[in-house]
Amino acid sequence: MNTFRSIHKTGFRLLKMIHAEDSIVIPMYLLNLVLSLGQIYIGLFLTAGLVDALLAGQYRQAAGAALMLLLANLFFGLASRLIQRRLQCLQRKIWLVFYVWLRRKAFSMDYETMERPEVAEKLLFSERTSDMQGGLGTLLYHYYEILKAIVNLLLSVSLVAHLCLRKPGAGFGVLGALASPVPSALLLAGMMAGTVFGAYRAFRRFAEERRALFESHTGVEDRVMYLTQQVLGNFKAGKMIRIYGMQDMILENLSVFLKKSWGHFSDACDVERKQGNANRLVDSVFIVGAYLLAALKVVTGAVTVGAFTQYVGALHQFGGACFTLIAVHGDLQKICTYMEEFLAFLDTENLHVKGSIPVEKRTDGEYEIAFEHVSFRYPGTEKLVLKDVDCRIRVRGKLAVVGRNGAGKTTFIKLLCRLYEPASGRITLNGVDIRKYDEEEYRSLFGVVFQDFKLFAFPVWENVTAGRARNETRIWEVLEQAEAGSMVRGMPGGLDAYLYKDMGDGVEISGGEAQKLALARALYRDAPVVILDEPTAALDPKAEAEVYARFDEMVKGRTSVYISHRMASCRFCDDIIVFEDGKIVERGSHEALSAAGGSYAKMWSAQAKYYDAATDSPPEAPACARS
Ligand code: ADP
Repeated sequence: MNTFRSIHKTGFRLLKMIHAEDSIVIPMYLLNLVLSLGQIYIGLFLTAGLVDALLAGQYRQAAGAALMLLLANLFFGLASRLIQRRLQCLQRKIWLVFYVWLRRKAFSMDYETMERPEVAEKLLFSERTSDMQGGLGTLLYHYYEILKAIVNLLLSVSLVAHLCLRKPGAGFGVLGALASPVPSALLLAGMMAGTVFGAYRAFRRFAEERRALFESHTGVEDRVMYLTQQVLGNFKAGKMIRIYGMQDMILENLSVFLKKSWGHFSDACDVERKQGNANRLVDSVFIVGAYLLAALKVVTGAVTVGAFTQYVGALHQFGGACFTLIAVHGDLQKICTYMEEFLAFLDTENLHVKGSIPVEKRTDGEYEIAFEHVSFRYPGTEKLVLKDVDCRIRVRGKLAVVGRNGAGKTTFIKLLCRLYEPASGRITLNGVDIRKYDEEEYRSLFGVVFQDFKLFAFPVWENVTAGRARNETRIWEVLEQAEAGSMVRGMPGGLDAYLYKDMGDGVEISGGEAQKLALARALYRDAPVVILDEPTAALDPKAEAEVYARFDEMVKGRTSVYISHRMASCRFCDDIIVFEDGKIVERGSHEALSAAGGSYAKMWSAQAKYYDAATDSPPEAPACARS
C-alpha cells in the first residue's frame, strides 16, 4: 500500500503538470470551491437571521433577510452554473491531454525502447486504467473535493465550536450543566471523533471488496472493447466473418464477456449500496446527537432558534465532509497508484543516446552507407537475427536485397533506418557512425515502403504528403509515378477523398492500390535513398512488371534498395545482396550470381517459371538455368 507521502507526491506532480498545460483550470476549481461553500454558509447565516427576525416579529428585517437570501442564492447559483459548465469542458480536456502526453512520450522514445515488454506494458496499463477510472480529470476533481471537504470541515468545526462556547441561562439544573461550554465541547468532540472513526471503518470495510472486484475484473472490459471495436466494429473483418459464418461464435463470445461485465457492474453497485447504508447509519447517529446538543442549547437559552438552524446546518456539513474526505481520499489513492505507472513511463529513458550532428545536405546525392560487422538481436530475444553483416551501399545504384522469408532482410533495413541499433559493429553514413546524427535529419534521407506499410483513414493527399506541405503538382506527379493517378482521379473528391470506412464515408481500396499509394508517399519525400520492402507483394505479376518497368524513372538520381523474395525484382538492379540466416552469403550482379550457381541461382531457377507464364515477356534466363 502506498504511503500518504508517495500518493500526494504523485498527485502534486500531476497537478503541476496539469497547471503547466492549462493555467486556468486549477484557479477555476478554486473559484468554484469559494462559490459553492459561500452559497452554503452565507445561506446558513441568512436563514438564521430570517428565523430569528420572524420569531421576534421583526417583519421588515425578516423581509430584508429573505431578499438577501434570494439574491445570494441567485448570484451563487448562476455563477456556479457558469463555472461548472466551463469546468466540465476543462475536465474533459485534461482527461484527453493525458493520452496526448502518453503518445507524445511514446513517439519521443526510440522504437527499440518502446518494443521492450515492460515499457509497452506501462503504456497499455496507463491507458487502460485511465479509460476505466477516469484518469487525470478524475484526479483533479478528487483534489477539488478533498480541498472542499477540508475547508468545509474547518468552517463547520469553527462554527460549531462557537455553539459550544455559548453559555446557558441560569436555573436549568442538569440540562444547564450539560449545556455549559466544557461538557458540550466534550460531547461534541466525542461525537465528531466517533463519526470520523465510523466513516473510516465503513470505508475500510468496503475498500477491500472494491479492490478485489476491480482486480477480478481486469481484462474483461479489454475483451469487450476488443470484440466490439476491433472485431465487430471493423468494417474489413465483416467479409471474413460472413464468409466463415463466425458471427454466432463472436456474438456468443461477446455475450459471455458482457455478462461478466454486467455482473461486475451489479456487484460494484451492491458494494456502493452497502457502503452508502453504513455511511448513513454513522451519519444518522451523529446528526441525532448533534440535534440533541443544539436543542439543548436552545432550551437552556444559550442560543436562539435561528442559531439552532445555523448550527444544525453546520453539523450536517461536518458529517458530509468527513465521509467525502475519507472516500475521495481512498479513490485518489487508487488513481495515484496507477498514475505512478504513467509517471514511470514518462520517466523512461531511451535505451540509446540521441546524436545531434546535422546530416550533410548534398545536392549531388553522394551518400555512402556502410554496415561494418553488424550483428543484431531483437529486444528480449536471444537469437542473433543479423550476423556480422559487412557491406557498403553504392550511391545512386539500384540494390536488391533478396533471400528467403525470415532471412533478415527487413531487419537489415530497420537498422539502416535507425529503428534499432546494432548489438555489435556499426553503421556509417559518409564515414560517420549514424548514431551521431540528429535522428530526424538522418531519417529524412529515406523514403521507405515497409512490407507492413500503413495508410490511415485520412484524405488521400494527407496519406501521400505524410505531414509535409500540400503541393498538388508534386502529389499528382508521384501518384502518376506510382501508377495511382487514374485511381485517385476516379475517387469522389480526388485528393480530398477519405480512405477506408473507419470514419464513415471513405473509399475502400485493394491491397495493391494501397501499396501504390504507399509508394507515392515514399516518393513524395524526395529522399536521396528510396527503400521498397516487397514493393510489389500485393500486385499481380502484370502490374508488378509495369511498376518495375517504371522504377528507373521513379528513382532516377537516387539510391534505391529493393527487398524481395521475388526474384523478378533483381533483373532491374545492378547490385544484389543475398541474405541467408542473417548473413550475407552472396553479392554481385544478376549475371555474376546466376553464373556462380549458388543460392541466388537456385532461387532464380525455382521462381523463373512462374514469371515466364505470368508476364508476356519471359525473364532473361540466368546463366546457370541456361546451362
Ligand atoms: P525477412 O525480411 O527476410 O523476411 P525479417 O528481417 O523480417 O526477415 O526477420 C528476421 C527474423 O527476425 C525472423 O526470424 C523474425 O521472426 C525475427 N523478427 C522480426 N521482427 C521481430 C521482432 N520485432 N521481434 C523479435 N523477432 C523478430
